[in-house]
Amino acid sequence: MVKKLIIAIDGPSGAGKSTLSRLLSNRLNYINIDTGAMYRTVALAASRVGIASDDGSGLKRLCAKIEIHFERNGQFETVWLNGENVSELIRTPEMSMLTSAIAACPEVRDSMVDLQRQMGENGGVVLEGRDIGSVVFPDAEVKFYLEASVQARGRRRYDELILKGLDVDLAQTIKEVQTRDEADSEREHAPLVCADDAIVIDSTRLTIEQVLERMIDVVKSRQ
Ligand code: C5P
Repeated sequence: MVKKLIIAIDGPSGAGKSTLSRLLSNRLNYINIDTGAMYRTVALAASRVGIASDDGSGLKRLCAKIEIHFERNGQFETVWLNGENVSELIRTPEMSMLTSAIAACPEVRDSMVDLQRQMGENGGVVLEGRDIGSVVFPDAEVKFYLEASVQARGRRRYDELILKGLDVDLAQTIKEVQTRDEADSEREHAPLVCADDAIVIDSTRLTIEQVLERMIDVVKSRQ
C-alpha cells in the first residue's frame, strides 16, 4: 500500500505555496490545508469584534469560540468562519497586514497549531504555511521550502489582486510583501524559518509545472 504522508510546504508570501499545495494535493488525492487562511480568518473575526492584535487573552477567547473549517469546491478550497464563506474577504491587502500582526500572538498560534495537528494527524495531507516543517509537524515525511525573489513574489501577488478587480499598485504590493516577510521572519514565536531537512526550491525562474514535477519526484521517492 502507498504510504499516506504528511507534506509540509513553507516559505514567504507569494512564493507559490498555495498554488502548489493545491496542485500537489489534487494530484495525490490528499487533503489541502492552507494554514495562512486559518490565521487570516482569525484576523477577520478579531477585526469584526474589535479585538486588537496585542490582546492575547481576548484573542485566546475568540479562538476558542469561533469555528473554522475548509470545504472543497471542485479543485478549490473554501474557508468558512462560523458557517459563512469568508474565502474572498480574508484576501484583501488590509487583511494580509492585520493577519501578520495577529499571527505573532502566541495564544493564537497555540490554538491554530492544535487545530492543524488534529486536521493532519492521519496523514494524506499537504499543509502550507510558515512553521509547518519547524513547529506544527517537525516529523513530516516531506518538507519543502519554496522561495523566489521579492520582485517575483510581489508581482505574483499584484497579478492575483488585479485579477480579483482590486485597485492596487505594483510598487506598493512589493513593499507590503517585504514588510510582511520581515514581520513573519523576525517575530519571537514560530518565525518563518527553513527547516534543516527541508528541500529548498527557488521558483523565480521556474514554471508552476516545473516546480510541481520536482515536488512529485521527491514525494514518490519517500512513499
Ligand atoms: O500564507 P498567507 O500569506 O495566506 O499567510 C498570511 C499570514 O499568516 C502570513 O503573513 C503570516 O503572518 C501568517 N501565517 C503564519 N503561520 C502560518 C501561516 C501563515 O504565521 N503557518
